[in-house]
Amino acid sequence: MLAQRRASQRTSDAKSILGKRLKNLLKNKQCKDFLDGLLKQLAKDTGIPTVANTFLKVFEAASFRNISGETEDLGSAFVTASGAILGINFSKARPGGRNSLEAITIHETAHGASRVFQGYSEFQIASAAFTVGGAMGLVPDAVIPPWEE
Ligand SMILES: [Zn+2]
Repeated sequence: MLAQRRASQRTSDAKSILGKRLKNLLKNKQCKDFLDGLLKQLAKDTGIPTVANTFLKVFEAASFRNISGETEDLGSAFVTASGAILGINFSKARPGGRNSLEAITIHETAHGASRVFQGYSEFQIASAAFTVGGAMGLVPDAVIPPWEE
């Protein structure tokens, strides 16, 4: 009982920390447009609908766990028809760049944006991000599209 309470406490703390970080990023219109556009592109490319049409709503629909000490990975995504359980390795997160708490949260949330088994794949996310980022002028010319790698 006590362990259970501690586990659920840890889960809600993780989500509230991540939610604050994400909402702060989404104040930037370009960031919000990119992430909302990513969802639209994922649905369009795959034919698999997203659970919501804004990135924040997708985040709110998911559960988050602190998986520090459980894995060497930065994060994890367990997605089923009834919801997404996303793991964030707080102990591996570093400020700025791709290992930041924000980047890990966005990456795992993108996996959990559909309710098909295991969510959207690495390739589907990379491909949609490349398309949306390109249309917004955010992709440097030297970047190779994921489908050519
Ligand atoms: Zn991934």
